[in-house]
Amino acid sequence: MTKPTTTNTGTPVESDNESLTAGAQGPILLHDHYLIEKLAQFNRERVPERIVHAKGAGAYGELVVTNDVSEYTKAKLFQPGARTESLVRFSTVAGEQGSPDTWRDPRGFAVKFYTEDGNYDLVGNNTPIFFIKDPIKFPDFIRSQKRLPGNGLRDHNMQWDFWTLRPETAHQVTWLMGDRGIPKTYRHMNGYGSHTYQWINAAGERFWVKYHFKTDQGIDYLTQAEADRIAGADADYHRKDLWEAIERGEFPSWTVSVQVMPVAEAEDYRFNPFDLTKVWSHKDYPLIEVGKWTLNRNPANYFVDIEQAAFEPSNVVPGIGFSPDKMLLGRVFAYADAHRYRIGTNYAQLPPNQARAAEVNSYSKEGAMRYHYNDASVPVYAPNSFGGPHADPERAPDGGIWDFDPTIVRAGYVQHAEDGDFTQAGTLVREVLNDDQRDRLVDNIVGHVLGGVREPVLSRVFEYWKNVDSELGKRVEEGVRAGSNGNGSATPPAQG
Ligand code: NDP
Repeated sequence: MTKPTTTNTGTPVESDNESLTAGAQGPILLHDHYLIEKLAQFNRERVPERIVHAKGAGAYGELVVTNDVSEYTKAKLFQPGARTESLVRFSTVAGEQGSPDTWRDPRGFAVKFYTEDGNYDLVGNNTPIFFIKDPIKFPDFIRSQKRLPGNGLRDHNMQWDFWTLRPETAHQVTWLMGDRGIPKTYRHMNGYGSHTYQWINAAGERFWVKYHFKTDQGIDYLTQAEADRIAGADADYHRKDLWEAIERGEFPSWTVSVQVMPVAEAEDYRFNPFDLTKVWSHKDYPLIEVGKWTLNRNPANYFVDIEQAAFEPSNVVPGIGFSPDKMLLGRVFAYADAHRYRIGTNYAQLPPNQARAAEVNSYSKEGAMRYHYNDASVPVYAPNSFGGPHADPERAPDGGIWDFDPTIVRAGYVQHAEDGDFTQAGTLVREVLNDDQRDRLVDNIVGHVLGGVREPVLSRVFEYWKNVDSELGKRVEEGVRAGSNGNGSATPPAQG
């Protein structure tokens, strides 16, 4: 026998099908409480979608530490043999909630570790770098990738206008226009912490680190043509793939490694190690294996587990800290703030965000939808004389510390010997990509530019690519001129 339908407060309801009316053809009555509750709840089913990373998919899993990196960090989750439950949310960046998974875009790779010292969130991407290096540019950058205010359309001219006016984007745009700009599935891409973080060992020594999650499924990609076809046929292609693989028991895994830089080496490293538009060369800082991260459980409820999941780079644990990476520091503020707006003040109490730490003894109280509270005997203020919790610097994360020149300035990053907006993009084109990959890079750029880029932006596009690599720039210009009617766009917009 099926269970009886009830109202939200448990009262059995009379009908699932007919509203209460004054006579069969008369008006609906306001005291049909169940009808009103149903319609009102429906109107409120959504929380605002994320401004960025709105479309995603996620799963639960586990990190198992297979190597000993305790000489670099005392973080409990990275000690030999440690097993830590984890949640991930993969996503595209610019598209809205219903947008196709296969649009060309970086992918979010946001990981939460439920550690005994509190939640640790590594809110990364599938790229080791980013378009910009100062958070003051983030709203501008994202708006340029989203929609025009008048007609509500996405606009390649706006995208390239921003990119070419901010040449620090070149490394990430090169990466984006290459094969990795459209992963075959979420299982076939790497994840990167991208930012530079700090690790602190038991002796208090500090190191700079970068995280790498290398896919054990192998890197694979979709061509632009495949991705365009799938975008129409199956907008949820990546979400479905992840779900189905886990349901089949084919648990995707990633090998987690770090690059470690002693603090004393940062000042003279050939690239500024805190600039998010740059990588640290593997040749200078080889990967050190940490462990295996596996996804093994689908969400029970997409909305509760994934839509309401709140990742925040501000969640660090003892043994891990921040760095002078300005984008990281901006995100440390912005993410928690976004969750307060999007989900509500008490978002940390929701199931995917709840700490699994033995104790949560926060002095925060009340606010909308509060349901966890301290015992009435615990004072609501600190300091107090009645045994309330007290801060313990010995147990707290101590990663907010580094040396710097305390003069207050507005300035770009200190330039190191090989820094430059185009240096690493050029290395990627000339030294990493093979001929086939370079050909597809040219095709992807040309297709994207032909999707609506006009003068004066167009000339800057050619200049931009010539600065990355003169041969590549020449081929882009030739390709665009051959496909264009002389005034700009000649083909339907390639999606991006
Ligand atoms: P390496 O030759 O040691 O590393 C090159 C790396 O590039 C590879 O290990 C791989 O990283 C990544 N890669 C391979 N194919 C592609 C592709 N089609 N698109 C994007 N990335 C790809 O040299 P360096 O470490 O000195 O780096 C040289 C250039 O490689 C950099 O300027 C950067 O553009 C790129 N790169 C470097 C990474 C790093 O952390 N050092 C990471 C990714 C790219 P992976 O193993 O992570 O897949």
